[in-house]
Amino acid sequence: NEMKPYANEPFTDFSLAENKAAMEAAIAKAKSEFGRAYPLKIGGQMIETEAKITSINPGNVTEVIGLVSRANQELAEQAMQAALNAFETWSKVPASQRAGYLFKAAKLMRERKHEFSALMLLESGKNYAEADVDTAEAIDFLEFYGREMLRLSAINETQPLASIPGEVNRLTYTPLGVGVIIPPWNFPLAICVGMTAAAVVSGNTVLLKPASTTPVIAHQFVALMEEAGLPAGVINYIPGSGAEIGDYLTAHPKTRFVSFTGSKEVGLRINKLAAETAPGQIWIKRVIAEMGGKDGIVVDETADLEAAAAAIVASAFGFQGQKCSAGSRAIIVQEVYDEVAGYVVALAEKLQIGLPELNCAVGPVIDQISYARILDYIDVGREEGALLIGGAKASGNGYYIQPTIFGEVDPKARIMQEEIFGPVLALAKAKDWRDAIAIFNDTEYGLTGSFFSTDEDRIAEALDTIHCGNLYVNRKCTGALVGVHPFGGFNMSGTDSKAGGPDYLLLFTQAKLTSRKV
Ligand code: GLU
Repeated sequence: NEMKPYANEPFTDFSLAENKAAMEAAIAKAKSEFGRAYPLKIGGQMIETEAKITSINPGNVTEVIGLVSRANQELAEQAMQAALNAFETWSKVPASQRAGYLFKAAKLMRERKHEFSALMLLESGKNYAEADVDTAEAIDFLEFYGREMLRLSAINETQPLASIPGEVNRLTYTPLGVGVIIPPWNFPLAICVGMTAAAVVSGNTVLLKPASTTPVIAHQFVALMEEAGLPAGVINYIPGSGAEIGDYLTAHPKTRFVSFTGSKEVGLRINKLAAETAPGQIWIKRVIAEMGGKDGIVVDETADLEAAAAAIVASAFGFQGQKCSAGSRAIIVQEVYDEVAGYVVALAEKLQIGLPELNCAVGPVIDQISYARILDYIDVGREEGALLIGGAKASGNGYYIQPTIFGEVDPKARIMQEEIFGPVLALAKAKDWRDAIAIFNDTEYGLTGSFFSTDEDRIAEALDTIHCGNLYVNRKCTGALVGVHPFGGFNMSGTDSKAGGPDYLLLFTQAKLTSRKV
C-alpha cells in the first residue's frame, strides 16, 4: 500500500471552543490518574522498586503526578542484558517492519493527542499550545524517522553507487548495538520519542533513562510502543539518577552509543566517560550530544521592528525560556535600540503568569534547582544591566518567575554568555549590523539565531557569517519543525546531530559495503 508523503502534524487551534474543551477534559482525566505507580520495563517485564522518583506538577507542587520506580546499577545491568538479548533478533527484523511499529505508534498517538499533551502539561508546566506542539513533534518524529529508514534501506535503488564492470556493489546501513538514551525534560515527549525512535528504527535496542522530572510522560510513550507491538527488550525503560546509572551505563563495555540531550556540563561528562575504553570493549563508543545554547536575535535598522520585537518575546519566553533554542539575547543596532526595547517590554508586560492548566502564557520553571539557579542569574543581571521588567518570583504554589528583561548589557556579561534556561532576556546595543553579528557570534555556543533585516545584501552576508546550526531570517529562533528545519548546533551546543533531518539516522547505523564479483 501507498505511503503518504511526510507532512507535519497540524497544531490545534485552542481558540475554538471544542478544542479547548477537549483539552480541559483530557486534563481532568490526567488528574484522575494522579499518584499512580509506574514500574520499570526491562525485557518486557514490569519491575516495581521500593525506591521511587516522585514526579510532581511544577505549577502546583503539592500535586503528585506519579510515583515512578527507580533503577539502581543492578537493574541497569539487567536492562543491559535484556537489550543485548533483544538486539540479536531485533537487528535482523526487516527495516520496513521496524518502521511499521513507528507508523502504528504515530497513529495511536494522534488518536490520543490531547491525552499526551494534558499529562505533559501537568508534569512539565507547558501551556496548551506548547504541549500541543510537543506532541505534534513527537508524532512527526515517528512518521519522519519511519520514512527515513525506508529511504535508507532502498538507497541502492534511489542513489546507486558508481558501477564498474564485473561487480555488484551495495551499500547497507546496519545497526550499531545497544544504545543509552538520555533525553531532556524540556521536550519531555517530542525529544524522548525522537531520540528513542531513531535509535530503534535503525535496528538498535535501547536503555531509555528519562529525565527525572518528567518520567511519567516517558513511561506512557514506552507503553504506547508496547501497544504498537514493539517486541520486548527493544526499549527498556529505566528511570534513575545520572550519577548512579547514567555513569554506569555510559562506561559499560557493551554500550555501543550514547544519545544525550541536556546541559553542556552533563554532555561533556558523558563524552569524557564514553571516550575511555572499558576492559572487554571492542569499539569506539559513539556519542551524540545535543547541549545548550546562548541563542539570540539580531535586529538592524531596516527591520520590521514590531515583528522583531514579537519574535524576541516569543523566543525568550516560550515555555519560560526553557529551550536550548531560546532567544535569551537580543542584539539591536543603536539607532533603533530604544524603539525595539520599548516594544519588547510592552509585549512582555502583557504576558500572563499562572497555572498551565488555565493556559496562562507563562507557567512555572521545572523544579527547585532551576528556580534557584534562575533567581541567582537575575541577581547577577542586576549587576550587569538595567532591569526593565520582572526580576522577581511570581506568586503561585509552584516555581513561578516573572519574565525578566535587562537592558544595555555588555556583550561579555555573564547573562550574555551563560545559558540560563529560564525567562531571562538580555538586550545589547550594537554600533551597526556587522557589530551586532560579531556580538552574536561571541559565545561558546552556536545553536539557533535570527537575523531581522529587510536589506538583501545584509541578509546574504548574515547567512554566511552568523555562526550557528539553525539560522533563521525575519522569524523567531525557536520552533524547528521535523523534516523542515533539521535541528542541532555548533561548538559547545553539541555534535550538530540535526534531529529531524536526512542525516540523523546515519548516527545510529554503520555503513557496510559489499562488493561481489560477477
Ligand atoms: N527543537 C526545539 C526548537 O526548535 C528546541 C529543542 C530544545 O530546546 O531542546 O525550539
